[in-house]
Amino acid sequence: METFDYVIIGSGSAGSVLANRLSEDATTSVCVLEAGPRDWHPYIHLPAGFIKTFHMRSINWAYQQEPGPYTGGRSIYAPRGKTLGGSSSINGHIYNRGQRQDFDTWAQMGNRGWGYADVLPYFKRLERRVGEGDETYRGRDGSLTVTTMDWKDPLCEAFMAGAVSLGIPRNPDYNGAIQEGVSYCQRTIQNGLRMSAAKAFLHPARKRPNVHVRTHAHATNIIFEGKRAVGVRYLAGGRGGAPVEVRATKEVILSGGSYNSPQLLQLSGIGSPELLKSHGIEVRHALPGVGEGLQDHYAPRTVGRVKNIKTINELRQGWRLWVEALKWATTRRGLLALSPTMVYCFWHSGETTESSDLQLTFTPASYKEGVQGALEDLPGMTVTSWQQRPESRGYVRIRSSDPFQQPIIQTNYLTHELDRRTIIAGMKLARRLLKSAPLAPYYDYEDFPGPKVQSDEEFLHAATLRGTTTFHPGCTCRMGPAESGWAVVDDQLRVHGLQGLRVVDASIMPRMISANLNASTMMLADKASDLIRGKAAPEAAKLPEMAVA
Ligand SMILES: Cc1cc2nc3c(=O)[nH]c(=O)nc-3n(C[C@H](O)[C@H](O)[C@H](O)COP(=O)(O)OP(=O)(O)OC[C@H]3O[C@@H](n4cnc5c(N)ncnc54)[C@H](O)[C@@H]3O)c2cc1C
Repeated sequence: METFDYVIIGSGSAGSVLANRLSEDATTSVCVLEAGPRDWHPYIHLPAGFIKTFHMRSINWAYQQEPGPYTGGRSIYAPRGKTLGGSSSINGHIYNRGQRQDFDTWAQMGNRGWGYADVLPYFKRLERRVGEGDETYRGRDGSLTVTTMDWKDPLCEAFMAGAVSLGIPRNPDYNGAIQEGVSYCQRTIQNGLRMSAAKAFLHPARKRPNVHVRTHAHATNIIFEGKRAVGVRYLAGGRGGAPVEVRATKEVILSGGSYNSPQLLQLSGIGSPELLKSHGIEVRHALPGVGEGLQDHYAPRTVGRVKNIKTINELRQGWRLWVEALKWATTRRGLLALSPTMVYCFWHSGETTESSDLQLTFTPASYKEGVQGALEDLPGMTVTSWQQRPESRGYVRIRSSDPFQQPIIQTNYLTHELDRRTIIAGMKLARRLLKSAPLAPYYDYEDFPGPKVQSDEEFLHAATLRGTTTFHPGCTCRMGPAESGWAVVDDQLRVHGLQGLRVVDASIMPRMISANLNASTMMLADKASDLIRGKAAPEAAKLPEMAVA
């Protein structure tokens, strides 16, 4: 049996950062197990390839959520990356860290060292910010390139002018002191190519002789001796493949993402005893919080029909696409170098809300049935709106003891009353933005939800008909004190009650943050690498008093 110091399960946003940092010490051996293939496919690297990888089953777990009380009987599609780089290899490229209060809340929940001042040095250490940014908040020397959208489209400009006309200010850097305002998106795109976590962190690390990456290696069990994790069992080649065991002399680190990490813990006998027994799995360690507490952002899309200008819907058709392909090949710019979202707007649902609780995105394009996988043919523009910090919580539970069967994913979107109120406010703001004076020359009519929708009940009903995930599941192996009853890992990300096992990925977030999750997942993995190596944390950031949002 092969033996390494560390075995990391999953090469996604977190796993890639960890592999890089842990292998900096040449005397340490690191094995990374990845269920998917290498990230060779060109659609991964071409930003506009997003729309293709969205459904590409060779590199995507392509999960389905369970219908919930507020999804109109629909089972919502939930893509997840299954290749080197994980979801960072198929995501929408947006770089968004969240608000100061997100991380201060994590600390208040009993997690020492996770306040904003503590985690800011890790955000800075990871990034190479190209463009505007105050040095207090932005890093310039990291491996992860962060650029700003550089496609100046009249519809985007009109949308931002419309926001300003409603009192929403332009914000030069929503990853700086204040998130609130309207801005072009910041993206993990460099020279017209995706900057995944694998590209920034894993591939450079793979050049080191102490890093061993196994693709098509589907982990099926964590191996224990008593309460200590000592290795991992995987099937080489996936279902029906040869069983292989690798040993970890120091630690096993689970970085399978918010759906697969709790699934693998449950398959390994760690979780709610009732759940495990109901599937004939021997209980190794009772930990009822495993898989519980799932949070995600739920987003209805408000669609306007467009006149007097071409939208992306038409620009990607026929000969125009060839022009765009030529543009990309010669300049690395244009339509093919775009992320699916171009403008971000952070605003509050009511006057008494201290910082923004709504995130709205603008795209001069529209999607069939409001789902991002396929563009419409008619000219359209979309404002997607979601609540930043939902209260509703769901769960991830194994469906059976078969490691290849997708787990039950129940998000319970909008089951909390505050979430329903906030989502309605978001849709109303989306409508006001589309109807703003600067967009008037281009705005034809509202296609969805449509002018008949006026009352709160009607808006809510529309939200249940068309809302989708924004692909931000988290909080299924939450970080918190053992006595909480819900926590799975402590603030060093060690699984409570076990030895030699940590969980390091988006699942450990104790509470949803006001952001897309890629940036903070890489941040938490970078911080975890210091915890694992016993390295002192960088000095906490000294922040101006007034920077609250
Ligand atoms: C379509 C889409 C769009 C998104 N858009 C954005 C965006 O624009 N901006 C943003 O910030 N965030 C975005 N996100 C979310 C963000 O990418 C994720 O939150 C983040 O990548 C999660 O990182 P992770 O390390 O927790 O998991 P992942 O990156 O998903 O990594 C988990 C890895 O573990 C592997 N794995 C799982 N189970 C096993 C097993 N049993 N054995 C071996 N390997 C296993 C998986 O194949 C995967 O490679 C998007 C996500 C998706 C899917």
